[in-house]
Amino acid sequence: METYFFYFLENMALIIAMMYLGLKAREYVVPAIANSRKAPLLNGLLMGVLAFVIMYNPLIHEGMRVDLREAPLYFIAFVGGWLPGIVALIIPAIYRVMMEGPTVLQGISQGILLPVLIGSLFHDWKNYRPPYALVSIKRMMLGFLVFEVIKSVWMAWSTPATASMAIIMALMGAIGVLAMGWILNDTHRNIIRWKALEHDSTHDALTGLPNLRFFHEQVRELKYRGVPMAIVMMDVDHFKNYNDTHGHPAGDGVLRSIGRLMKETARPEDVIARYGGEEFILCFTGVSTEQQAFELADGLRERIESSSFYGADKQPGGRLTVSLGAAISATEQPLDVLIEQADRALYQSKKSGRNKVSVASIQTSAEIKTRQQVNA
Ligand code: GH3
Ligand code: MG
Ligand code: MG
Repeated sequence: METYFFYFLENMALIIAMMYLGLKAREYVVPAIANSRKAPLLNGLLMGVLAFVIMYNPLIHEGMRVDLREAPLYFIAFVGGWLPGIVALIIPAIYRVMMEGPTVLQGISQGILLPVLIGSLFHDWKNYRPPYALVSIKRMMLGFLVFEVIKSVWMAWSTPATASMAIIMALMGAIGVLAMGWILNDTHRNIIRWKALEHDSTHDALTGLPNLRFFHEQVRELKYRGVPMAIVMMDVDHFKNYNDTHGHPAGDGVLRSIGRLMKETARPEDVIARYGGEEFILCFTGVSTEQQAFELADGLRERIESSSFYGADKQPGGRLTVSLGAAISATEQPLDVLIEQADRALYQSKKSGRNKVSVASIQTSAEIKTRQQVNA
């Protein structure tokens, strides 16, 4: 009994240590791989190594190698399905063949193939959300119970295992699987919560766009690297009128649609954000001339003008439009100064009739150059 107990503790220590290290390695060392298609293979390989380490120092009972190899094998197949399950069984199966003994076939079929098979059958495809999958502990333990019942009956019939040994092994295996499920769920739940918090603190809840703080961080970094850019401020025209006519919820819908149009229009290297209220801000990168800034901003203006918004026909001019102001980062101006220049250019667009783009001249920031667009 004592031998079993200490052997159990040893196996548990291995299982917990490998699970912890594996999950941490994924989180800190190879987060890119965790999100890739290779992830199931690597997860399977890790569990295969764990099963091998567990098998390395077994209890020998009448030539039978008794160990908890089935715990990681069942677990990986249950969590990730048959693919990582099959990858996981390669190393333990080869090792078991090499170790020989009178129960090689039983050892492979009952302790290696069967847990992968039952684990895959109980795998929850419908609720599987890699890379941070959470498992249902109840379903996992139910599957393991089914596995243990089949294995114990099969073992009693085909090997020199005794009933008490089978029960002790089943209990040990169950605790091992339970520990792995808890560690996985705890780690993944923490990562999911942390990511949600990070997203909430850097994004605007209404439009889903990045918020101003995130914009400042990103653009300061770009400025520091000397990336040429244009800062563009954008404001919805006659939005108070829209809210008064259709109500605030409809107005919120417009802001969401504009956010989506901005996302679709911006290039991957650009930075966009909701500035606040019905104002938005953009940083077009790689822009060094007034003409380029104008064209990019005007493209967005046109896109919004030509989109259909609910109730836009009641707006002045029969359309829902925006006004924009741009400023180019030609010299060493701090971001705040650029935003101020873009804001003044925006004011110019409003003053000269709305649905326009104005670009602050590079030469003198006080002088604002207004360009009329085609369909003013
Ligand atoms: P202008 O063409 O000069 O920009 O006119 P405007 O009516 O858009 O300007 P004003 O600044 O007077 O009004 C802005 C309006 O935007 C007032 C405010 O109720 C509305 N607004 C600000 N934030 C939100 C929001 O989150 N949701 C909704 N629905 N409306 C908002
Ligand atoms: Mg405004
Ligand atoms: Mg407005």
